[in-house]
Amino acid sequence: MLKVKTTNKCMTEKKYVFDFVFSEIFGIAFEFETSDKPEFVLSYCGLELSFSSEFLEDDTNLNNFVGEINSFELLKPQELTLQSDLFGACFYFLTCYREFGDVKRDKHNRVVCEFKQVETPIVDHIIEFIWCKIAKTWPNLVRREKVFKMNITCDVDQPYLESSTTISKTIRRMVGDIVKRTSVRKMVLTALRYLDFKLGFLYFDPYYKGIFYLMDQAEKHGLKITFYFICRKGVGPYDARYSIEDEIIVKLFSIIKNRGHEIGIHGSYDSYNSEILLKEEVNTLSIALGYRNEKRVLGGRQHYLRWEPGKSQKILESIGLKYDSTLGFADRVGFRVGTSHEHYMYDLYERRKLSLRQKPLIVMECSVFDTNYMGLTDKESALRKMCEMKQKCMDFGGTYTLLWHNSSFNNKSQKEIFDKVVRYNE
Ligand SMILES: [Zn+2]
Repeated sequence: MLKVKTTNKCMTEKKYVFDFVFSEIFGIAFEFETSDKPEFVLSYCGLELSFSSEFLEDDTNLNNFVGEINSFELLKPQELTLQSDLFGACFYFLTCYREFGDVKRDKHNRVVCEFKQVETPIVDHIIEFIWCKIAKTWPNLVRREKVFKMNITCDVDQPYLESSTTISKTIRRMVGDIVKRTSVRKMVLTALRYLDFKLGFLYFDPYYKGIFYLMDQAEKHGLKITFYFICRKGVGPYDARYSIEDEIIVKLFSIIKNRGHEIGIHGSYDSYNSEILLKEEVNTLSIALGYRNEKRVLGGRQHYLRWEPGKSQKILESIGLKYDSTLGFADRVGFRVGTSHEHYMYDLYERRKLSLRQKPLIVMECSVFDTNYMGLTDKESALRKMCEMKQKCMDFGGTYTLLWHNSSFNNKSQKEIFDKVVRYNE
């Protein structure tokens, strides 16, 4: 078996990162052996290969995890040298170490992306660089095959148009159709949507139809959609206006399940910071889905991608979720955690590997379209950016987690972009 000789400093962190790189990515068994030398020495079949372990030799890096470590902001494998602690760099990105410092936040208290190389999966590059060195030293060593996965998800913030739900909202919108939008056609459609909603058809509702569009398209490609539903009806400006006990949602759950797609939790606006709230919401969803005994809600994503580094992952783990898929930046596409690979999360405060997995969010459609974010409003640029990110995940055999809201199929061009991204390089 391959041996990794190193000091006994920061062993939990070293084990965490070697488990990821060797066990999960390479599929190669290894064991640690204590040594006095402050480096990683890989030893196998009488040959040795050394890597720096600078970052993971110093406990103060972990007791005082703030600030930026510029030396790790390296990009291309050819620029990396063995003087850098490559495993420490992986640890640094996977744990979002830099987000524990004094970072810029937006009005939703989300960490704003100030990371220039966010569109580069730096951890994946580092892993390939490590592999190049290993393959050169041990040409007969075989690694696990790279298998790309497409993971399409949908956060159901609004399953149907809110304006169709009551007569007063409908009338308000009809007035807007005439006064603001000066369109009689739109006014008639608004009136029609009210009747449509009351009769329970939702035939004219673009948001509701968006859910079916997603399933139809995914099924054509043999893919499954994971829908994340908010399980707390609220009154605040960012809360969900629907209840999962509503007849429409109950019916929708059964359609989604019967068609073989998945349902997870979309933690409400304040739940990223509250175990009590999120636990209640997960319980509500479990009951709605008829889960008993062993069967449970496996995971989800937090509404507005709200996330408190160091706290949210512990909340999710403690209520028994198996995975989260929140970690992407709202304002930029790319690799917030430096990788396109699913992985176990780490608790920097308690210095332990969590049982919670992260499925990093690579692209959210509104990060691309929204003028407050990347603002790629023309079809070609938006499509190019989304495909570029997919290609990067494919290059490394990672998972392309795409978030597309059911409310974002309002025009032909959005549908076309979605279809082309799903088909890209299939
Ligand atoms: Zn949401």
